[in-house]
Amino acid sequence: MVSIADNLARVREQIAEAAAKTGRDPGEIELVAITKTHPAEKVREAIEAGQTLFGESRVQEARAKIPELPSNLRWHFVGHLQKNKIRHALPLFEMIHSIDSPALAQELNRIAEEEGLHPRALLEVNVAGEGSKFGFPPDKLRGEMEKLLALPRLSIEGLMCLPPLAEEAEASRKYFVQLRELRDSLEKEFDLKLPQLSMGMTQDFPTAVEEGATLVRVGTAIFGERTRP
Ligand SMILES: *Cc1c(COP(=O)(O)O)cnc(C)c1O
Repeated sequence: MVSIADNLARVREQIAEAAAKTGRDPGEIELVAITKTHPAEKVREAIEAGQTLFGESRVQEARAKIPELPSNLRWHFVGHLQKNKIRHALPLFEMIHSIDSPALAQELNRIAEEEGLHPRALLEVNVAGEGSKFGFPPDKLRGEMEKLLALPRLSIEGLMCLPPLAEEAEASRKYFVQLRELRDSLEKEFDLKLPQLSMGMTQDFPTAVEEGATLVRVGTAIFGERTRP
């Protein structure tokens, strides 16, 4: 059987290859190992293989799992954050990848203020305009930007996307390019830095790295198939 350590080594190697191919420094790319549905024992195997950055997509699951694990790990939240879970999520996660509406941003800002926190956050963009997905429509984000940037407790560091599921990694490329170009134009228009691009999963992370990802979110390629959807 292939081990989690072997899987991690392979994923890291693919990230390094994709970076080399496009002349990027592999040190610019962080691997977020997505542990949703997987028990703490499997996370421990990844820790033994040197992984320290992990991601979860449900607050309830994270609240049970994270306290079982060493406290020196870093956790990112990558799922749809319900407003009534914000207070529980904030102390667990160093970054929220998935601010997907103005209302969520405002509520996050309000609760962060009450809790005395300054969360790092990314704006999720619904790159393919899918009705089933959360996120800002790309053409709406520009119009929302001033209000989002005025929220004093949020440190907005970049953009995130979750393109349509596809068999071929190449199918995601145009969405990754779109996210990067949107980032570039927001930086120019609003005279700010949005250094983080969270894009790429098991199906397409090497392509995402080629197109500028700084955070890749990989679950299945490290931990195997999930039993619960
Ligand atoms: C589950 C999940 C991932 C990881 O997906 P894999 O295909 O298992 O690599 C990445 N991002 C988000 C938002 C997820 O929910």
